[in-house]
Amino acid sequence: MIVVMAKDSSAEHIGEVERRIESHPGLKAQVFNGIERVVIGVLGSIPPDLKDEIELLTGVLEVVPISKPYKLASREFHPDSTKVVVGDVVIGGSEPVIMAGPCSVEDEEQMVATARAVKASGAKILRGGAYKPRTSPYSFRGMGIEGLKLLKLAKEETGLPIITEVMAPEDVETVAEYADILQIGARNMQNYTLLDRVGEINKPVMVKRGLAASYEEWLLAAEYVMAGGNDQVILCERGIRSFEQYTRFTLDVAAIPVVQRMSHLPIVADPSHSTGRWYLVTPVALAAIAAGANGLLVEVHPNPDLAKCDGPQSLTFENFDALMQQVRSVAAVRRSPVEVT
Ligand code: PEP
Ligand code: MN
Repeated sequence: MIVVMAKDSSAEHIGEVERRIESHPGLKAQVFNGIERVVIGVLGSIPPDLKDEIELLTGVLEVVPISKPYKLASREFHPDSTKVVVGDVVIGGSEPVIMAGPCSVEDEEQMVATARAVKASGAKILRGGAYKPRTSPYSFRGMGIEGLKLLKLAKEETGLPIITEVMAPEDVETVAEYADILQIGARNMQNYTLLDRVGEINKPVMVKRGLAASYEEWLLAAEYVMAGGNDQVILCERGIRSFEQYTRFTLDVAAIPVVQRMSHLPIVADPSHSTGRWYLVTPVALAAIAAGANGLLVEVHPNPDLAKCDGPQSLTFENFDALMQQVRSVAAVRRSPVEVT
């Protein structure tokens, strides 16, 4: 259920609505200050008479029940698309935002060279993993805090904001000191302790879709973060498991327009992990942009053959530059979208 406040409602009116909601055991009020209006989300199991009780309070315009299990993440709750702002980068605005960099941070030279190259080609955010979820415990699992320091250095050199994965609840505070966006990896999409923890911070969080997660499960993972009070959430379609073995995963391109109907949150696509092969990254990336993705997450490495992680799906600087030129063309076509009624 959401409570829409009238335009002329005062802070006292809003406070009273919050107090009344929270006087019911187990209910929590979450206030969102939109551009046009203040909306209060009611979280918890709603008693039958609550709608009538709240509707009578001064300053309340209307009370709208929300039918979906995810509330704060739903379009019903927030009809306007959310824009997540990182410095002067807007994710969810009119231009797709490209996040690029190596799978994992390896050394200073690799990070700084990649940051410079992807920036020159038009990337707006630098990626790089310091804590790596690996299928085998014997694979390279990331540099940890030393990796975070190298990301910071690359940011200082180029000005590019950083996105990096956090795997453990106890690392959230440290990663948040270095990162501009915290990434929740596909394998951790249902790590509810971790989702709760990133819900408490004041930094954007990107939630990657689980390997076998439905749209609803994915949006409920975003809901965890939002229910903690963090409304700066970005979704990332990174491919799901299918029977096909040629590609690493299968990018669900329909997820982009479907999730944009279900939710107000921005959605980006990861053509690297979904394909697993560098020569499939550009066509799949362009498909995602054409489908309306708000951005891309692309793996780029100075020398993919020597990469410690995910070399086969990493683009060289030259191939990334070529990708960016084509992204700009497709994004320009998309600016005049076909209305579907
Ligand atoms: C990554 O982006 O570095 C990553 C490990 O991706 P995913 O969680 O989608 O496998
Ligand atoms: Mn990777």
